[in-house]
Amino acid sequence: MVQLMARAKLRDNLGEDCPVFENLFEFCQTHAGGTFDTARRLNNRLCDIAINWAGGLHHAKKCEASGFCYINDLVLGILELLKCHPCVLYIDIDVHHGDGVEEAFYFTDRLLNK
Ligand SMILES: [Zn+2]
Repeated sequence: MVQLMARAKLRDNLGEDCPVFENLFEFCQTHAGGTFDTARRLNNRLCDIAINWAGGLHHAKKCEASGFCYINDLVLGILELLKCHPCVLYIDIDVHHGDGVEEAFYFTDRLLNK
């Protein structure tokens, strides 16, 4: 089991601050699905304001879990919003820099990153 987890860490690029734990996939589904759903509801004008208090895992990158973030739900939500809007204003109020979000949209001017 330990060897399997070590292999998974290497394969999935998980480090010390992103340990593999039971129900990791379901955890990712919950926070990423919540943010994706808030964006979908905004796009479909089902609400004017939507908040996913379980989201905000802004350090995850395309090929790397980082800083306790496994899947970058913000990137998924922004991509969903960009389907219906020409640009999105992203305000990160965390004490850390949202490097995963920055990396995902580094080469586009459709995300205003503050
Ligand atoms: Zn952070």
